Amino acid sequence: MERTLIILKPSAIQRFLVGDVITRFQHKALRIAGIKMMQLDETILREHYAHLVDRPFFPFLLNSMMLNPVIVMCLEGKDAVEVVRGLTGATNSRKAAPGTIRGDFGMSGQENIIHASDSPENAEIEIKRFFKPEEIFDYELRIFKSLYSPDEL
Ligand code: UDP
Ligand code: MG
Repeated sequence: MERTLIILKPSAIQRFLVGDVITRFQHKALRIAGIKMMQLDETILREHYAHLVDRPFFPFLLNSMMLNPVIVMCLEGKDAVEVVRGLTGATNSRKAAPGTIRGDFGMSGQENIIHASDSPENAEIEIKRFFKPEEIFDYELRIFKSLYSPDEL
């Protein structure tokens, strides 16, 4: 089963959307392999957003991501990276489709509620960036046997 990394950004906490966002992942039947609250700092954000450090908006993004603690989650399911990116919606909340998290809960390109890994390779790197090995749990979710066909498992 594939794993992906989600961050409930500071805006999700400020706007009391933690429950709503997690409920979407629960209803989609993604297994929670890890979840915790943490305060991000400039070091981890420069690494996490290395592809954006030279962009003019980067200082705004840094401030926004350090405003208050975030909630990081590791979710697991078949094709979890692609599935979660689909639930997340386009980067700019104004352009994100209705029904997606960003499309339903925001109006901003920057304050777009969650981060989600964009490829399985990056997901593995990001999970290691935000979680210690002992914070990821390998328990069995028995209902997966009913939720998937045998050849999907
Ligand atoms: N971002 C922004 N302005 C932009 C592009 C990105 O403020 O023009 C912020 C936004 O919060 C986004 C994050 O930088 O979620 C990371 O950008 P990326 O292109 O990786 O988008 P994502 O993978 O989050 O959809
Ligand atoms: Mg990205």
